[in-house]
Amino acid sequence: MSTQEGSCHCGAVQFEWDGPTDEAMSCNCSICRRKGYLLAFAPMDALRVSTPTEALATYTFNKHAIQHQFCTTCGCAPFGVGKTPDGQEMAAVNLRCVPGVDLDNLKINKVDGASF
Ligand SMILES: [Zn+2]
Repeated sequence: MSTQEGSCHCGAVQFEWDGPTDEAMSCNCSICRRKGYLLAFAPMDALRVSTPTEALATYTFNKHAIQHQFCTTCGCAPFGVGKTPDGQEMAAVNLRCVPGVDLDNLKINKVDGASF
């Protein structure tokens, strides 16, 4: 898998992503539907943020299991961070913020998060 570069819209948040770029999760839960997330998942070391962390703010809700991160300047939400049930730190990257990804050719895995 090749490394892809991603960013928020204004460029204050930039990152490299070694995780999957051929499929994404599309979920109908309360936050995914509003953000329009198309998320790909990999262990945390697949995500390298190359800009200062002060550019990011964190939003959590419900059980606060996932740190939804967004750019404090342009509001884009390029990734989130969470833990698997066995404690492994995972990154969830919004492939809409990775310009090299062909969104029309993504395999979309629909998740009914609203029913969880
Ligand atoms: Zn930004």
